[in-house]
Amino acid sequence: MSTRPETRPSTSAQGASLEQMGAWVDAAPNAQLMVDRDGMVLSFNPHAATLFGYSREEMVGRRFDDLLPPEMRAAHADHCRAFFSQPRQRLMGSGGTFVGQRKDGTRLDLKIGLSFLESQAGVIAIASIIDVTQQKRAENEAKQLTADLVRTNEELNDFTYIVSHDLREPLRGIRSYAQFLVEDYGTQLGDDAKDKFANLIRLADRLDQLVLKLLDYSRHGRVELDLKQVDLNDVLEDAMIDLSTAIKESGAEIRIPRPLPTLRGDRSMLVELYANLIGNALKYSDKEERWVEIGFERGASPARSTETLGHHMPLSDEAVRTVFYVKDNGIGIPEEHWGSVFRVFRRLHPRNAFGGGSGAGLTIAKKIVERHRGSIWLESTVGEGSTFYFTLGADEREAKTHGAAH
Ligand code: ADP
Repeated sequence: MSTRPETRPSTSAQGASLEQMGAWVDAAPNAQLMVDRDGMVLSFNPHAATLFGYSREEMVGRRFDDLLPPEMRAAHADHCRAFFSQPRQRLMGSGGTFVGQRKDGTRLDLKIGLSFLESQAGVIAIASIIDVTQQKRAENEAKQLTADLVRTNEELNDFTYIVSHDLREPLRGIRSYAQFLVEDYGTQLGDDAKDKFANLIRLADRLDQLVLKLLDYSRHGRVELDLKQVDLNDVLEDAMIDLSTAIKESGAEIRIPRPLPTLRGDRSMLVELYANLIGNALKYSDKEERWVEIGFERGASPARSTETLGHHMPLSDEAVRTVFYVKDNGIGIPEEHWGSVFRVFRRLHPRNAFGGGSGAGLTIAKKIVERHRGSIWLESTVGEGSTFYFTLGADEREAKTHGAAH
């Protein structure tokens, strides 16, 4: 047992009788007991009796050590002598907690505050006790759960990476052999056989694209974030360069109502995030006059954003977050799909509709946002358009705006 001295001086109740002090202890709303300098229990209130499983009659006149696990008793006797040689208010135990033992042998995590008082019978210690066993257990469980989650996540990323990586080799083999067959035996093959081989090669290529997307996805979970101060206006500019052909072809108007903030983040990942969201906004539209708006809102979250199938902004952080958005006037997304579009390879349209796609873009967008400790969600009205919202939580405190109104 070790001690942590408190700064406050000891309280003196010189002149109080043991009976008076025992009455104070009895009336306390938590477990309390009194001990003399020899470690004998002088008083043991009803809460202490409930906590330790000993009756008052059993404990009064008995050594305080009996409330400790056997292996701690010798060390406690030394500390006890030290306490009484320099009586001060203090917390018992290392890190503010102390292990006790019930009559039935079960262990308790306790917070014990010690006060030393002058009584008519000399210096006595009053221990005021709070049971933190459940709290400690919950803390340990939460720690364990977090460690398990981190490990499972890493394993999953590794698994995805290894499987995707290893799948590509036999797949390339299949494609090559199909190609060789067509090249070497093409003249002997009928049109129907040639068509089938062409389909085989096309499917192998498609599977390879999907596997590549999986590799890409797992890479986003594996690589270290390269965190720097990033001006999101530069990020946007880079994303637009990547999308220049799509922007030109769609004829969409790009609206940026006010300059975006600067924050700490991984620049290339953020470029990819914007490119994915803006790319979709350009793609999933059937309007003559298309527009995409890119902006942010400070403070309160936009209306209706809190219950979108688990992809909502945590309410507790609502007031302090910056919410970024990419809004379009496209085809919209039915509400029952607001959660599922973030799942890998989840597409709401036939493979070749709206210019095609793998269905991994939003999954990667979500991964990027989550790596930045943010969340992503959407709101949409079918036929009118969609808005994808996201936060980049971890670094909000460092965010600065360029003269933008808040
Ligand atoms: P991809 O675009 O490659 O299919 P994503 O993961 O980016 O994959 O998107 C998943 C699905 O969500 C898309 O197939 C599409 O059906 C739908 N979607 C995504 N963004 C939009 C949007 N802005 N408007 C309407 N539908 C969208």
